[in-house]
Amino acid sequence: RGEMTVGELSKSLHKDVSEVIKKLLHLGVMANINQELDLETIQLLATDFGVEVEMKIPVDEDNFELILETDEDGDLSERPPVVTIMGHVDHGKTTLLDAIRQTSVTEGEAGGITQHIGAYQTEVHGKKITFLDTPGHEAFTTMRARGAKVTDITILVVAADDGVMPQTVEAINHAKAANVPILIAINKIDKPGANIDRIKQELTEYALVPEEWGGDTVYVEVSAKQRLGLEHLLEMILLVAEVQELKANPNKRARGTVIEAQLDKGKGPVVHVLIQNGTLRVGDSFVAGVCFGRVRAMVNDKGKKIKEAGPSTPVEITGLNEVPQAGDPFLCYEDERKARNIAERRAITLRQSEIGANTRVTLDDLYKQI
Ligand code: GDP
Ligand code: MG
Repeated sequence: RGEMTVGELSKSLHKDVSEVIKKLLHLGVMANINQELDLETIQLLATDFGVEVEMKIPVDEDNFELILETDEDGDLSERPPVVTIMGHVDHGKTTLLDAIRQTSVTEGEAGGITQHIGAYQTEVHGKKITFLDTPGHEAFTTMRARGAKVTDITILVVAADDGVMPQTVEAINHAKAANVPILIAINKIDKPGANIDRIKQELTEYALVPEEWGGDTVYVEVSAKQRLGLEHLLEMILLVAEVQELKANPNKRARGTVIEAQLDKGKGPVVHVLIQNGTLRVGDSFVAGVCFGRVRAMVNDKGKKIKEAGPSTPVEITGLNEVPQAGDPFLCYEDERKARNIAERRAITLRQSEIGANTRVTLDDLYKQI
């Protein structure tokens, strides 16, 4: 029923065929260059690439026109950076996240109960920063493996009394592969054994040369435990974000990524979503992976009920039919019928690809077809 092949779609999205095929695999679709794609798959694929598409369907679904909907400059406004914290075990990731969160609680909404929704927002000089709670490595491996890009900046925490360790290197590799800028937080500077220059030297071997040594990597010295250097760290995050010119269009239907999801005895399926573009409102219909629903209630990271959420905002929502998975794309549609339809088709495609996988088609086989 499809009108467009993988090859044609690649061309119109300005992407390599191999990239499109890889993305299709993430969506659970095994395809080659000549494979015809249906409307929903095209839409999902384009959205996963961060390209909004609008389908003009003149007469029947077999004869459609694909319109790539790009945001005009005038539609775009600045959005907060989304930050993940990575680093070796015990170097202080959790302590740092907690310290930043508490700083924002005391300075910001006093008395607000922070709620665990997989992410939180903090503010410095009136500008917001979104932190993902998910341990950085997990966020990267599970979400990236599923084709989702959620992070704008990685904070690499390195303990000043320890140095570059295996998971430090792993984090560097993840961030570089995802093309995400790295900001170094040298932690535990309060400790007697702290040796800041040694850390800088070690990291220079990974091409993370400090600005003061002629490089372009931002280093910040902190003590998560004694809460030293935290405001400076936040300011430097904003600086790195500014260079990236992060923008989004709040005036359209929301899309984002599932950060966490679970089944709550009272509320039913609960999903934590990071909104990445558009604005989500109570009552909106959506697809999350193979699940669907209508936003019944929406809560922010301070535990406050909200009616709408814009780009880079993490929210908890209820109103789904089932529990989706972390990393699932979250997309809003004009009505619930459409959302249900797409979720069901996705489920079928996924199941088919699982059956397909059993017939031993390997990735290599697929790439040979290109
Ligand atoms: P994670 O495994 O990276 O999440 O590390 P944690 O945040 O759990 O910290 C590991 C240990 O280091 C804990 O005992 C923390 O109290 C301690 N720690 C974290 N940050 C600092 C710091 O800035 N200074 C000192 N002295 N200890 C710290
Ligand atoms: Mg931890």
